[in-house]
Amino acid sequence: MKAAVLNAVGEKFIIEDVDIDDPIENEVLVDVKACGLCHSDSHIQENDFGFPMPTVLGHEAAGVVTKVGPEVTTVEVGDHVVGSLIDFCGRCPRCTSGRPWQCVNPAAVARTADQPSRLSRNGEAVTQFSSLSGFAEQILTHENNLVKVNKDIPFDKACLLGCGVITGAGTAINTAGVKVGDTVAVIGCGGIGLNAVQGAAIAGARRIIAIDLQNEKLALAKKFGATDTINSGEVEDLVAAVAEITGTNGVDHAIEAIGLKATAEQAVRILREGGGAYLIGMIKPGTRLDVDPFTELLMNQLRIQGVKMGSTNPQQDISLYAELYTQGRLNLDDLVARTISLDEINEGYEELRDGKVARNVIVFD
Ligand SMILES: [Zn+2]
Ligand SMILES: [Zn+2]
Repeated sequence: MKAAVLNAVGEKFIIEDVDIDDPIENEVLVDVKACGLCHSDSHIQENDFGFPMPTVLGHEAAGVVTKVGPEVTTVEVGDHVVGSLIDFCGRCPRCTSGRPWQCVNPAAVARTADQPSRLSRNGEAVTQFSSLSGFAEQILTHENNLVKVNKDIPFDKACLLGCGVITGAGTAINTAGVKVGDTVAVIGCGGIGLNAVQGAAIAGARRIIAIDLQNEKLALAKKFGATDTINSGEVEDLVAAVAEITGTNGVDHAIEAIGLKATAEQAVRILREGGGAYLIGMIKPGTRLDVDPFTELLMNQLRIQGVKMGSTNPQQDISLYAELYTQGRLNLDDLVARTISLDEINEGYEELRDGKVARNVIVFD
């Protein structure tokens, strides 16, 4: 099959032939119909996280089940599915208490060392990324990494449910537990931030303040439910600007969706007493935050939480968001700037790096 292969850190994607194995045990083979370009893939492309190459990236995929392993029970051939990069065993105490995103045995969905690699090229293993590797014509994965969705949702929208939507909306709804009447600020209005904005709107927040340096993104944030916007490059004192909007000394929840030290610290400073800062941006390993635990955290009873995948229970939440989309209550249409072919992946990422678009999505015929 054709796949966009990354052979080394810093290189471009190259379209090559990659072999994909047949499903065994609980595995499912999927014909990929769409895969979103997420910033996390380009982080792996540009920075050395020690991730083994060659690899096929891509983790925001949707498609059709074409073949199932002998032990598969949750999907059938012909089902429309969304890929989920949350590896969970389904049996450990975290999974059985409803927190699969904190599974203690995520390796349960991977192949063991004595089994052949799911992906290979000329007989050599190609590393699968996020149990999916969606920048390819097919995906072979464990059934736990797939969620069946309604056939009404176009694939180029459904794929976004696998990462951008659950991470952003899930942080507001699940992790922060935004309640009706709360105030929320979202710093960074890319694909993830816009979904944090709409998660806060779905949860019933009173004021949702979108913060970004680009006016195009702030205008887009309004389409996702932002009640107020701040261009942080145009205000002298962000803390004062937020306080003026809320009429208090800050927001109940601040969601940081960029991944920088300065904006992570801002997320803490714009909180009111008892508030929570949620860090969901891919912040560089080794970064240290300058926060005073006594005067800032203790006296104001603040919390800082790192969030992975919006504390999402994929089987429950992805099908929920799919339903909200078909009811017109979740905006996916305005997330997709452009659909492209697999061959255009490098150009697609260039546009994302410029920061003007939320998402480009690869579609397959
Ligand atoms: Zn588990
Ligand atoms: Zn992603």
